Amino acid sequence: MSYLCSDCPRECGAVRNEYTGEGFCGAGEKIAVAKIMRHMWEEPVLSTGNGTENIFIYGCNLGCVYCQNYKINGSLRTSELPPLTYLTPAEFGELLVERSETGADTVGIVTGDHYIRQIAEAITPDVKKRIKTPLVLNMSGYSKPETLALLNGKIDIFMPDFKYVSEKPAQEYSQAPDYPARAVETIKKCFEMTGPATFDEKTYLMKSGVIIRHLILPGWFRNTAGVIDFVNENFRPDEVVFSLMSQYTPMNSIPEISSNPRLSRRISAVEHKAAIDYLLACENITMCFCQDRASSSEEFIPDFDGSETFQ
Ligand code: SF4
Repeated sequence: MSYLCSDCPRECGAVRNEYTGEGFCGAGEKIAVAKIMRHMWEEPVLSTGNGTENIFIYGCNLGCVYCQNYKINGSLRTSELPPLTYLTPAEFGELLVERSETGADTVGIVTGDHYIRQIAEAITPDVKKRIKTPLVLNMSGYSKPETLALLNGKIDIFMPDFKYVSEKPAQEYSQAPDYPARAVETIKKCFEMTGPATFDEKTYLMKSGVIIRHLILPGWFRNTAGVIDFVNENFRPDEVVFSLMSQYTPMNSIPEISSNPRLSRRISAVEHKAAIDYLLACENITMCFCQDRASSSEEFIPDFDGSETFQ
């Protein structure tokens, strides 16, 4: 079995075979899983202390040059490490159920924009009923509303990135000049499907809604300010959660990074403070998280070389 894929804005129209495909992301029909691990440092609303059980998906439809998970997020045809396993939608659905029974507060799918069709097929009404925790979909933010619609009622918390508001970095770093417009469509569609954020009244664990993430890149303050402006101007107080991430870690073993005057360094203390000050001045962004600058460390990047973590 194979099909021609135009599921994301790349609209490759390329064949996807059982394991790999000819499109930009290289993904096939089966879902390639890179790693499964308990993550203790997601946004505090995703855990009351037991962490998030994250299922890392292999490959990506953006392929950013600075990717922190570059060992698994390139094309399936070119990445350094092989996937841990390939799963059919039915198998992936059972994996979601199983991981929701491990005692974690939430289960996360990281990052699944190139497998939305398969993830939607995996979450049947029966699977959805048996998943015991809120289900989080971590996304690159580069999706098509009509594909995302397949997930309506299946994902509790959408966590899209909003990486760029201008075409220049979108083209230079992710070969996607249309990213700004597509990310806006993606975020609006996610919000249309979940509505305003809801929380458990006692634990404040998030039950449903949208968390918009933005990674501050060194030397791109105006880009960060533009992302914050978008959230402030398009949502009312308490509708969405905003997460400002400071963990950018230059992968200087990659020549494209070490030779890039912007990307070869961490963000400075001044850049970090400027972004936080800008965010805190926004009256409509009432639910937000800001990472400490010390989170810019390879310590916080999952070890994809390590042994697999099926339990
Ligand atoms: S999901 Fe992959 S194959 Fe399909 S359009 Fe996007 S990049 Fe191309």
